[in-house]
Amino acid sequence: RKFGYAIVGLGKYAVNQILPAFAECEYAKVTALVSGDMSKARRLGKHYGIEESHLYTYDNFDKIAQDPEVDAVYIILPNSLHADFTERSFRAGKHVLCEKPMAVTVEECQRMIAAGKKAGKKLMIGYRCHFDPVTHKAIELARTSIGKPQIISTDNGDNTDPTDPTYQWRLTRALSGGGALMDLGIYGVNGSRYMLNEDPIEVQATIMPPSDPMFREIDETIVWIMRYRSGAVAHGSASFNVNAMSRFNLQGTEASLRMDPATSYWCNSVSHCTSGDTHTWSTPMFTIPALNQFSAQLDHLAISVANNTPLAATGEEGMQDVRLIRAMYQSANSGSRPVSTDWGDWRKTI
Ligand code: NAD
Repeated sequence: RKFGYAIVGLGKYAVNQILPAFAECEYAKVTALVSGDMSKARRLGKHYGIEESHLYTYDNFDKIAQDPEVDAVYIILPNSLHADFTERSFRAGKHVLCEKPMAVTVEECQRMIAAGKKAGKKLMIGYRCHFDPVTHKAIELARTSIGKPQIISTDNGDNTDPTDPTYQWRLTRALSGGGALMDLGIYGVNGSRYMLNEDPIEVQATIMPPSDPMFREIDETIVWIMRYRSGAVAHGSASFNVNAMSRFNLQGTEASLRMDPATSYWCNSVSHCTSGDTHTWSTPMFTIPALNQFSAQLDHLAISVANNTPLAATGEEGMQDVRLIRAMYQSANSGSRPVSTDWGDWRKTI
């Protein structure tokens, strides 16, 4: 039988991206829904063929322990709820796929990892780009065809609509844990690490003063620098008040790599330039067969559980990004002074 997922939180990402993606899964299917709004759960349950007995509220969620159709719980809730629902899911004896950012503090991440180990179940973080063939092509080029990696630049941003509930919790620190960096900058942080296959040893960040009171609790716009032992440097920005952007550039001693968009849902691209002429990208954009990142991600946990093979995005991976993000906030809140992140480079080749 297919590996069964319970989806917790029926918001924008769950409804628009994840639920439809099961149609293209080979090994996974959705078998339960968990929501605070039972009429929404019933409506979606009907659409996806899920019976009333597999619909749960946040309050009676723990009953999922007795649901044999559910192998894993996919947590797609506001960030500050990730840790509690992960622990509850492990207590119910299920595997967990948890959205990024893994949690809002390092302590929560540690609790989540410990709970998974105690339950003997897998914990995966929803880094969908790890399943994008365009990202894989970029990593291959970064390893083989640019000389020594020197400078990364990365920018992620979007506009905020404060009337849309999906943005409201993002503006509330207690629910989001932070602003543009937590939500969008994390793609640049994680991307810089997998592109260089190295972790930064020092970070520095500056939060720009908010341009609108709606951003008073969180970073509207943040810029940062990450320094690496190899001598490489990554600089990045994230903003909640710009036209949508998702860019990644890697400058090596012999060639340049450009991704724009880098981390979108469907249409990422990568180009490679060796000409020495900054105006000409000598290699045309690569043609890479499209692959549904969301379905591949859902299947990946199913395969990992069935064959006991390693996960592409573990809890430890998610925690390292949260640690770096917290260090960046620490820097930004202390006059942008450098903060050491030299915790040991545990990264293995992905
Ligand atoms: P959303 O606001 O659209 O959905 C969140 C859901 O949580 C809603 O159904 C809401 O009702 C529910 N919820 C439960 N308790 C809540 C509370 N106390 N306050 C507010 N909402 C509550 O948000 P979203 O965009 O779907 O994001 C959810 C998670 O998914 C976040 O962690 C986000 O970072 C992540 N996400 C990841 C990607 C990706 O590409 N990997 C994309 C979008 C969102």
